[in-house]
Amino acid sequence: MNIFEQTLSDSGQVLKRLSPEILQINIGKLCNLTCLHCHVNAGPKRKEIITKETIDKILDWLEKTDIKTVDLTGGTPEMVPDFQYMIERIRGFKKWRDIITRLNATIINEPGYEWIPEFHKKHKIIIIASMPCYSPDNVNEQRGEGVFDSSIKAFQRLNSLGYAQEPDLKMHFVYNPNGAFLPPSQAALTIDYKKAMKDHFGILFNDLYCITNMPISRFASYLKRNGELEKYYDLLVQSFNPNTVSSLMCTNTINVSWLGEVFDCDFNQMLKLGLEDLDSSYENKSLYLWNIDLQKWTDIAIRTAKHCFGCTAGSGSSCGGEVV
Ligand code: SF4
Ligand code: SF4
Repeated sequence: MNIFEQTLSDSGQVLKRLSPEILQINIGKLCNLTCLHCHVNAGPKRKEIITKETIDKILDWLEKTDIKTVDLTGGTPEMVPDFQYMIERIRGFKKWRDIITRLNATIINEPGYEWIPEFHKKHKIIIIASMPCYSPDNVNEQRGEGVFDSSIKAFQRLNSLGYAQEPDLKMHFVYNPNGAFLPPSQAALTIDYKKAMKDHFGILFNDLYCITNMPISRFASYLKRNGELEKYYDLLVQSFNPNTVSSLMCTNTINVSWLGEVFDCDFNQMLKLGLEDLDSSYENKSLYLWNIDLQKWTDIAIRTAKHCFGCTAGSGSSCGGEVV
């Protein structure tokens, strides 16, 4: 039993998988930025991106399910050459699926990516975009020089097309702390963000998601270099909130890699922690999405480790922000 499982057990909580509602696909590690907090270690030189063949296998499987939402993450999903093909195939399904892209807004201003705003509008893609602060210094420190101004320009463009103004064009922002501390109250920060973005830049957005930094990959290296890794883990462990457990994203999400391999969440994917209990449920240990039998899905235990405290600290954290 690892320390997270022990803590769950001591608190009387059980982390139980439910029927999947979201298929989250990490379609590649390619990105034009190299943010400090990035749990994917994404960057401009990464070569790992999904192929058309893998897209087809995933979408053939998805089309036969009742999963309602497709959540595309990366890297910067739009940099994957077959991104548009993938969206158009999903929009060709008989059944409607909500499509989310975890957009790095700066890509809109890069040559060759001018198509993004109109394409996203046409296909009613829900945008979830990182905006870790409304002050340029903090954003540039965390994400790179010039990122703040470029993001502002991109959001203004998306607003001008109706994003965050028309009911079917949603644009949400993501805040994550600029260091080794927990996010503040999401409700309070939303009020500050809405006011600052509107007053200073004329920008509107729908919801703000506060996400806790996960002490893995690039952020773990940063903490280690500054001698803060252990202290940050202590903070996460001490802030364990049992009320978050039933709403964690691993309970209703299937996470898939650019190769089609299945994981409990994007963090486990980055740590290469595959599914648990495969022997009892599947003959073949290399589990790809197209081999999943959804009848057996809820029987498989969720694979946890110490980093899971990053999801249960304080008000909790998931791809949709606070959980309680
Ligand atoms: S956090 Fe997002 S924008 Fe930043 S390097 Fe990672 S994938 Fe790219
Ligand atoms: S890190 Fe993944 S497996 Fe662990 S609690 Fe968070 S979502 Fe669940």
